[in-house]
Amino acid sequence: MNEDHGLIIVYTGEGKGKTTAALGIVLRSLGYGKRVLIVQFGKSAFSGEVKALEQFGDQVKLIQGGKGFVGILGDKKLISEHKQAAIESFELLKKEIMSEKWDLVMADEIIGAVSGNILDIKLVLDLLDQKPEFVDLILTGRGASQEIIEKADLVSEIKSIKHPFDKGIKAKRGIDF
Ligand code: ATP
Ligand code: MG
Repeated sequence: MNEDHGLIIVYTGEGKGKTTAALGIVLRSLGYGKRVLIVQFGKSAFSGEVKALEQFGDQVKLIQGGKGFVGILGDKKLISEHKQAAIESFELLKKEIMSEKWDLVMADEIIGAVSGNILDIKLVLDLLDQKPEFVDLILTGRGASQEIIEKADLVSEIKSIKHPFDKGIKAKRGIDF
């Protein structure tokens, strides 16, 4: 296996740090001039990285396709709407990956979409098989299934030991979003 062989990287688990770990790799890759695509599933809220990444111009593209969180934070949308948003995000993700325009692709919360039954796992497994060889692909989200784990080269499960939320401290700018 050489430097040009793309890796499939999974960040899963209940603890905090999946999205931010992936963003760490994004930052590192940008430092080498790599072209980076980020597609966020199930999210449409602003987060600091959206603004920060603007500074990299065309070197990075961020697509937020979701309809927000499923079943929490006052979600009143139908499951069918979430499914529709997820499939649209997936189609965009696939098209962009296959275009060979991107060296590193971060599919944020795609695993949550699968474990939450709003995105068909078969689509994701096929994409892992079909992606261009050189593309590094990071998948994040709680509840990675065995099939995804088997296809990945690197899997880290983040375990929560403590979280400020447990003592009532709310999400913090720059730390949580
Ligand atoms: P981050 O984006 O901070 O790396 P994450 O991707 O691991 O977190 P998600 O499941 O995507 O976690 O959840 C996003 C939000 O939920 C973040 O604001 C994060 O701080 C919060 N969160 C993550 N883990 C926990 C936890 N164990 N208890 C409470 N809140 C959490
Ligand atoms: Mg996350």
